[in-house]
Amino acid sequence: MELIHETAVKKRPETKKSAYRIVCPNCGNDRDFFEVADGVILTTHYVQNSDCSFTQEGDESQILGEIRFFCGECNADLSRFHQRFVEMLF
Ligand SMILES: [Zn+2]
Repeated sequence: MELIHETAVKKRPETKKSAYRIVCPNCGNDRDFFEVADGVILTTHYVQNSDCSFTQEGDESQILGEIRFFCGECNADLSRFHQRFVEMLF
């Protein structure tokens, strides 16, 4: 009976893989962040309905420039953490 119990525990999926919090090395902030994108083209697709109203069909915005990532507290450039930020974005 004990063996069965151990197997069940080991099969539990790991929730904390390699996740770690992004912490600003300058001020220690780990809560507020800004993502800034340069050269953004906002393209929105609309369809005109039979009653003359419009319905938004899609957002095909493109980012042409650089995406930078900043601390929300001291504005330090944290762009080197941006990849991690994207991976943790849900
Ligand atoms: Zn900071």
